[in-house]
Amino acid sequence: MELYNYSLESLSRQLAAGEISSVELTRSVLERIAEVDGKIGSYLTVDEAGALLQAEAADVKLRGNGSGKTTPLTGIPIGLKDLISTVGLPTTCASKMLIDYRPEYDATVVQRLREAGAVITGKLNMDEFAMGSSTENSALRKTCNPWDTGRVPGGSSGGSTAAVAAGTAIATLGSDTGGSIRQPASFCGVVGLKPTYGRVSRYGLIAFASSLDQIGPVTLTVADAALLLGVIAGYDERDSTSINQPLDDYYGNLQKDIKGLKIGLPQEYFSAGLDAEVETAVRKACAQLAETGALLDEEISLPHTDFAVATYYILATAEASSNLARYDGVKYGFRSESSEGLLEMYRTTRAQGFGAEVKRRIMLGTYALSSGYYDAYYRKAQQVRTLITRDFDKVFADCDIIAAPVCPTPAFAFGEKIDDPLAMYLSDILTIPVNLAGLPAISVPCGFTKAGLPIGLQLIAKPFAEATLLNVAWQYEQLGGWSGRRPELVKEAK
Ligand code: GLN
Repeated sequence: MELYNYSLESLSRQLAAGEISSVELTRSVLERIAEVDGKIGSYLTVDEAGALLQAEAADVKLRGNGSGKTTPLTGIPIGLKDLISTVGLPTTCASKMLIDYRPEYDATVVQRLREAGAVITGKLNMDEFAMGSSTENSALRKTCNPWDTGRVPGGSSGGSTAAVAAGTAIATLGSDTGGSIRQPASFCGVVGLKPTYGRVSRYGLIAFASSLDQIGPVTLTVADAALLLGVIAGYDERDSTSINQPLDDYYGNLQKDIKGLKIGLPQEYFSAGLDAEVETAVRKACAQLAETGALLDEEISLPHTDFAVATYYILATAEASSNLARYDGVKYGFRSESSEGLLEMYRTTRAQGFGAEVKRRIMLGTYALSSGYYDAYYRKAQQVRTLITRDFDKVFADCDIIAAPVCPTPAFAFGEKIDDPLAMYLSDILTIPVNLAGLPAISVPCGFTKAGLPIGLQLIAKPFAEATLLNVAWQYEQLGGWSGRRPELVKEAK
């Protein structure tokens, strides 16, 4: 089997045992990119030369000749969503606005990956500024779902999840503001973890909605996600919202018995509009979890769920309108050639640099924040956000984990929702509440539709309970057996 096909966990063992080298593994991934990425479109930038240099350095470390300790990530090829800052490599947010932008500094997560000896393969496609659910809003490239290239990979981290599914990276990082790791992970049949808000540093993550954004791993298996989270998580004084809470041994905790653990199924997440095949697969997954001795409660309620999408589209757009004000053609990024004075330059830079969805969000957010409307919209939305958080607090007083679908449907076709923003927004109804409440959640593969499209199980935990979340996800993964499958493009992973 080609090396790109194995899980991070398995490759890490093979590297440590000296059975393979990082250069061999990195070459395998680079060849895979050359072979299939013309069809999938997961990357915006491939750093072939840089990756091979990093792989050589990792091999020196692995052979015990270099300075510094090895980690489970030493020598592992990892791709990054293109809103994570990387010194010397483009960081475009898939926008014309940042097409030539090369950051002067690495994001904290990148610094941690480099210190751990990981090999950065390049930068992955996404919806422009992470606004979208299908990656169709990328201004730079189309990304296809590796399971059916006529369908979207999901979004906004569609490049990150398509890459793991297609084997063009061993693991990747994405970001999740309203579901952008979990939803595309479910569409592409891979594992996607959104950590607790504050668990992973946002320093160097280009901001969309700062009170919601969180970076997280996209991987082939739950164990891989645990290994990657162990490296990127932890306090960072450069991010004032990063929280100084001790880290758990995520990987070491995976196989713990979950007998007696309480798992709640929220009625509101299994209601009208849920695709029948998705519902069947998710309910079956929950029944399998019960076989481990976990206790199911199918009657729990999160009563404010219906308000989550409206709340999110006020708060996220308000924050975006403020965060994106910096792209004015003056400091960095795209500048329009217009020479009719400063104001005209601002106007044309923003008109030409941003795509339609980004403009729509800036207008919505600016409106929600404008005087006279602030109280009616922004303040109200903050109040509803509190109610949504309290819904979860109440449930978690009694339950350890919440289980639900990730998205009401499997991957949809290109063009199906792109002209109807509201339909696109509503497809995030099952992922957005988690962001509003700042909770950790994961998407784990739990089956396929008859048409061969992956389905994801969403598990949600209490703040900073990533260890329990990964433990339950791992236990399910052993029973379900859906992780690590490959689309036609590739063979089954070991
Ligand atoms: N699809 C949601 C949006 O368009 C979520 C995006 C995200 O999580 N970055 O805003």
